[in-house]
Amino acid sequence: MTILILGAGQLARMMCLAGAPLNLNVVAYDVGSKKIVHPLTGQIYTTTLEQAIADAHAITAEFEHIPDDVLTLCCTSNKFYPGKAAIKTGGDRALEKALLSKTAVKCAPYQLITEKAHLEQAVVSLGKPLVIKTCQAGYDGKGQWRLKSDDQIEQIWSQMADFIASGTESAPHTIIAEQMIPFDREVSIIGVRDKSGNTAIYPLTENQHTNGVLTLSIAGKEKSAIQQQAEEAFNKLANELDYVGVLAIEFFDVAGQLLVNEIAPRVHNSGHWTQQGTHCSQFENHMRAVAGLPLGSTQLQRVTAMVNVLGQAAIPQQILGIAEVTSHWYGKTAKPDRKMGHINISAANLHELGERLAQLSEYLPEEDYPGVLAASTALI
Ligand code: ATP
Ligand code: MG
Ligand code: MG
Repeated sequence: MTILILGAGQLARMMCLAGAPLNLNVVAYDVGSKKIVHPLTGQIYTTTLEQAIADAHAITAEFEHIPDDVLTLCCTSNKFYPGKAAIKTGGDRALEKALLSKTAVKCAPYQLITEKAHLEQAVVSLGKPLVIKTCQAGYDGKGQWRLKSDDQIEQIWSQMADFIASGTESAPHTIIAEQMIPFDREVSIIGVRDKSGNTAIYPLTENQHTNGVLTLSIAGKEKSAIQQQAEEAFNKLANELDYVGVLAIEFFDVAGQLLVNEIAPRVHNSGHWTQQGTHCSQFENHMRAVAGLPLGSTQLQRVTAMVNVLGQAAIPQQILGIAEVTSHWYGKTAKPDRKMGHINISAANLHELGERLAQLSEYLPEEDYPGVLAASTALI
C-alpha cells in the first residue's frame, strides 16, 4: 500500500518512519519544488503528481497551506484524508472560528478585519492588548502582531493592509484580531478518528511557547475534568468535519476553562511525545486511519516530555546516556530558530521525569532550550 503525503518536511518523515512497520510505503509531494520525493532520503522521483495520486492507496497532508489546485486534484481522487474542508478550515482562521461557533466550542473573543475601521472597532470592543493574526498564512507565531497601545494602530494597520492587498478575489486575505488571553498555561489535545467514526484520544499535553514557537511539551499531568473538556471539543470538531486521521487542538487554560486557540488538521509538534509515551504514536495512528487500518492505543504508557531543538545543528551526545532519552533528527540544514529535531524523555512518574529533566538541563543551555530547568523544578 502506498500513501502519498502532501508536504515533505519532518512530519512526513516521521509518518514515513511510522508507516514502515505497517508495510506502508510513503512518498511525499514537495509543494515548493513540485516534485515527488522520498520523505526520508530526499530521493527525487520522476513520477508526476497526477501519477502519484493515481498510484496512491490514500493521500494525506502534513500541513494546511496547500495550493488550491493541488487540493482539488487530490480531492477528486476520493482518497484524500482528512479532506479538503478540514485542510481549508485549519489553514484559515476565519473558517476555523466559524467552525468553533457552529459547534459551540469556546474561543477568545475576536473580530475579523478587512479595513482600518474594523481594527479601530476591535480596539474599542475587545479592548487592549490584542493579538492580531493573518487568517490565511502564518505558523510558529509568524504573521502576527501584538497591539498594546493606540499609537501602534497606524503602523500595524499599514503592515496588515499590505497582507490584505496581496490577496486575490478568488483567494482573499483577511486578518483577525483576538483579545489577548491572560491564560494560566497552554495545553493541546491530539486525537485520531477512523473512517467509521471511531475515535481515540491521547492524554492532554501541556505546552510552553517561546516567541510564538513551541519549545517544551509535557504529557501525563492532567486532571480528568480538563481532559474531559478537551475530549468534548475534539469529538465535536472531528465529527462535524467528518474527520479521518489525527487532529490537534491547541487551547488556553484559563482557571480550568479551556478556550480553543487553533486547530491543526494533521499530526502536531505537541504530539511528538507520543513516540515514546504511548504504545501507538500520533504518526502511526494517522497512517493507520488514512490507510483504513484499526486504530492503535492512545493510552499513556510513560509520562513524557518533549524538548524542541531549534536552530542547533547538534546536541551534546551525552544526553543519550540519561535514562529514557531519545533524539529525533529531521535531516535539515541548520538555520536560526529552525525546527531541527526534538528530544523525548520519559519516566515512571512525574517526580522521576523532573529528575531526568534536571539531568538533561545540565547539557542544554537555557537560552537555546528555555523552560527545561524550570519544568524540572516544578515536577520534583
Ligand atoms: P503554530 O506553529 O502553533 O501553528 P501559529 O503561528 O499558528 O503557531 P498561534 O498558535 O495562533 O500561532 O499563536 C502562537 C502563540 O501565541 C500561542 O501559542 C500563544 O502563546 C500566543 N497567542 C496566540 N493567540 C493568543 C491570544 N489570543 N491570547 C494570548 N496569547 C496568544
Ligand atoms: Mg497555527
Ligand atoms: Mg499554534
